[in-house]
Amino acid sequence: MAIYPKLIMDALTNVRYPGTGKNLVEMGMVEDNIRIEGNKVSFSLLFEKPNDPFIKSVVKAAETAILTYVDKDADIKGNISVVARQAARPEPDKLLPQVKNIIAVSSGKGGVGKSTVAANLAVALAGLGYKVGLLDADIFGPSQPKMFHVEDARPYMEEVDGRELIQPAENYGVKLLSIGFFVNKDDAILWRGAMASNALKQLIADANWGELDYFLIDLPPGTSDIHLTMVQTLAITGAVVVTTPQEVALADARKGISMFLGDKINVPVLGLIENMSWFTPAELPENKYYLFGKEGGKRLAEQLNVPLLGQIPIVQSICEGGDNGEPVALNPDTITGNAFRALAENVVEQIDLRNENLAPTQRVQVTKK
Ligand code: ADP
Repeated sequence: MAIYPKLIMDALTNVRYPGTGKNLVEMGMVEDNIRIEGNKVSFSLLFEKPNDPFIKSVVKAAETAILTYVDKDADIKGNISVVARQAARPEPDKLLPQVKNIIAVSSGKGGVGKSTVAANLAVALAGLGYKVGLLDADIFGPSQPKMFHVEDARPYMEEVDGRELIQPAENYGVKLLSIGFFVNKDDAILWRGAMASNALKQLIADANWGELDYFLIDLPPGTSDIHLTMVQTLAITGAVVVTTPQEVALADARKGISMFLGDKINVPVLGLIENMSWFTPAELPENKYYLFGKEGGKRLAEQLNVPLLGQIPIVQSICEGGDNGEPVALNPDTITGNAFRALAENVVEQIDLRNENLAPTQRVQVTKK
């Protein structure tokens, strides 16, 4: 009997995914790539998580179904490939159809330089020629307006295709919105819970972000309702976690990473960024002083099997650049600017790798300007 794809699909309607009462076809788990050569059958099954506990049993049941319902001699064993996809989260094109990749920038604890890294990463990505936006969602201390030298900006509404949209501020090639533009700095701390979540949703959905290659979100430190709101609102491509090499920071970074990977949030971790890795005095550029311990971030990345995306030294100019509103990443030829450029390149690479591993419908392409 000839085997053809429809027969395979029909057979797979007999396999239920445990706990759902639905079969693999109804669940959309069978990728549209069924190949048949003679009696050799191969195709892919899509799972939401790479560590789905049912992968083995479902693959086995699919093999059995094909041998039972299609052809008892079908050569199927070992020919079902398992592909992890991200389906439980919002559809990438729903809310910001013109935004290709969304990166959450987070940290386990405050003061490790998360906002500094977010600002410089955004500037470095823009320097590489990408279209970049940054949402300052750190309601506890919105610092991006200062870092981008646009503290006085008061974003106005503009009509775009019949909708009134907030026009982001823009500097150094980065579009920026922050709660800091709309509230008095001392009142920002009062913005919690639903009020902050709603305000942030508005800054995402009702703003004229336009086409972006990378949309960065500077999240509050630790874990908060804001994190949950963001993952429920946006199809986040991945998270980066900023830490210092110090033990207390590492413990919190570890918690941050497990939060992203946990069921409730379920966002891929693109990698860890070690900030304040060492201090180098300008007059002795070869000397490195490990003020917060040596390579703690690197070790944690190895332990958790996530990429180490960058190591950023402690340099006075990084701090001054933040205070003066001129991020060091604007000068990629300096040691500090170069560190952020390397970081940006690694982030791009990790996202490209992720996109290659996703189901075809979820792959996004980024084109340089
Ligand atoms: P967070 O967002 O994690 O609270 P910030 O980005 O506000 O941290 O940084 C805290 C302070 O440390 C700021 O004054 C910032 O300028 C400074 N800082 C951050 N990273 C560095 C660095 N690599 N070198 C020097 N100063 C830094």
